[in-house]
Amino acid sequence: MSAGGAGAQAGMNIFFDVDNTIITWDVKLRPGVEEIFTRLREDGHTIYLWSGMGPRWEVVKRFDLHAHIADCFWKPLHNHHARMAELGVTVQPDYVIDDHVEIIHAFTGSLVPEPMLPLDRDRVMWRVYDEIQAHCARLEQGA
Ligand SMILES: [Mg+2]
Repeated sequence: MSAGGAGAQAGMNIFFDVDNTIITWDVKLRPGVEEIFTRLREDGHTIYLWSGMGPRWEVVKRFDLHAHIADCFWKPLHNHHARMAELGVTVQPDYVIDDHVEIIHAFTGSLVPEPMLPLDRDRVMWRVYDEIQAHCARLEQGA
């Protein structure tokens, strides 16, 4: 174990996709987004949004997510790592959440299905939180 010990857990840069990840195709906020964003920040993580459509500040504004979101970026849709600088992604993602598996394969993260109807039955954000916690636990164990 490192000398840091308990409480020294480093926060991660967590990147959420927008369309079909935190919002529905018809621009409704996925259940649990605000609660899980709050919990992740309390756990010491930093949350970013990125999208193949560009920085989505209109979504941040529409759902009043400013307190949670450190920045918004373009998301590379191919050659993910090589195109980061070109697209102005100045932060390295430690964990990504996306409805497209290529992004999960290119980085580390959680693949999510598009939000299910009826929307109030959708529990995906809570599952994502559990997976992030499990990932952090593995990192702490050096696995
Ligand atoms: Mg998407």
